[in-house]
Amino acid sequence: MTIALIAHDSKKELMVQFCIAYCGILSRHSIVSTGTTGKLVSEATGLEITRFLSGAQGGDQQIASRISYNEIDVLLFFRDPIAAKSNEPNDHTMLRLCDVHNIPVATNIATAEALIHALERGDLDWREIVKPKR
Ligand code: PGA
Repeated sequence: MTIALIAHDSKKELMVQFCIAYCGILSRHSIVSTGTTGKLVSEATGLEITRFLSGAQGGDQQIASRISYNEIDVLLFFRDPIAAKSNEPNDHTMLRLCDVHNIPVATNIATAEALIHALERGDLDWREIVKPKR
């Protein structure tokens, strides 16, 4: 499975702690991320992460295009609901695309934990069946 990680600045430390806690599960999957989020997570966990551009430079749109091609199986997008900066990724676009393609998505750590356990149990294995073969 391919898991995409994005965290607004105020949520990056939370994302790092989440990935440390679930490093064992995450290490069995492909991880992609926006630039800074991926850098912080890989430094803290040693996980191999395919890093796109930073959010400010369009990394979120690189992930959005992969969602559109059904190449992302789970999106963990820790957004700041109070004070996101204007140059930070726009959650509306990402969530819309996840809804279009039925991609499981978490925007906070509580849902992310539920998804990671579902992933571990194999509850999301149906994604492999619906994914187009390339
Ligand atoms: P980043 O992108 O991981 O490169 O910071 C996300 C954001 O801008 O919030």
